[in-house]
Amino acid sequence: MLCLSQNTAKSPKEYLEKNGIELIWNPVGRPLKEEELIAELSKVLPVHGIIVGVDPITRKVIESLPDLKIIAKHGVGVDNIDLVAVKERGVIVTNAPGSNSESVADLTWALILAAARQIPKADRVTRQGRWDRLVGYEIYGKTIGIIGTGQIGLAVARRARGFNMKILAYDKFPNEKAAKEIGITYVSLEQLLKEADIITVHVPLTDETRGLIGRNEFEFMKRTAIFINTSRGEIVDEEALYEALKSNRIWAAGLDVYSKEPPIGNPLLELENVVLTPHLGAYTVEANLKMGMAAAKSIVQTFKG
Ligand code: NAD
Repeated sequence: MLCLSQNTAKSPKEYLEKNGIELIWNPVGRPLKEEELIAELSKVLPVHGIIVGVDPITRKVIESLPDLKIIAKHGVGVDNIDLVAVKERGVIVTNAPGSNSESVADLTWALILAAARQIPKADRVTRQGRWDRLVGYEIYGKTIGIIGTGQIGLAVARRARGFNMKILAYDKFPNEKAAKEIGITYVSLEQLLKEADIITVHVPLTDETRGLIGRNEFEFMKRTAIFINTSRGEIVDEEALYEALKSNRIWAAGLDVYSKEPPIGNPLLELENVVLTPHLGAYTVEANLKMGMAAAKSIVQTFKG
């Protein structure tokens, strides 16, 4: 078993070992590129299973592992795994739904508040001995627009209630029960973009959602809008986002994810009105444990039945 995830908690490791599963760790200590992955894997064959974070599990990688039976995602989004190639080979893919939703929702809120009150800039200027009284926006009582009301979107919505917000949402499959419980109103994507003060993305990356938020969508938004993405970078046209922020078409953004990670050389890094984090939505002690245990259990189940 090869564990590529760098943040697997201790108890999942113990659970795997107790069940007779030999664990080999990613020796590089960061997500690997396709060629690196194939090279590293070739040194430890046979590999029967992989615990994977965001590493690209492409057709070539899968083809390099003739004994592979299971890919256990240490998280939720499986967009880094070639699901067609996996299906052809009959390899099992599991993920850990709900394991990190509270953590990602917390980070989403951290980005909302940090963007609204320019916290990173305020921190920077205070350390420099300056006393710039940066003017921000109130969140309390405003309208939030949630794109995708799965586990994370709903966790974000529950927190929005504490801020007495009007909650608008857009989802291909509206969850009417949760909407009633939490107080969510489903609207079209266009209405959400026009009416929300905060717009936050929580759909998975699929062929349908790639580029979902582009130039037209930023045109619909209020000039005071705060745009948050903690889902996947490619759901947003980053060039259009850059232009919207640079021209103050929207007020600010908060991003945890990028089309290319790490986003070295990404022009968004030059802008002051965007708050950036390095894809750490699920990086909490609690989520690590839940994601690790879910991955470990699916592996043990696969090999021990
Ligand atoms: P989920 O499956 O519970 O929810 C996804 C929601 O999106 C569902 O309600 C679904 O109906 C909706 N949806 C799917 N396709 C759609 C479309 N074309 N149009 C409108 N709605 C659509 O997933 P989740 O646990 O809430 O996670 C959402 C995403 O967040 C993951 O897929 C992953 O990409 C991302 N994520 C990021 C981090 C991070 O570290 N930043 C961590 C975990 C998950």
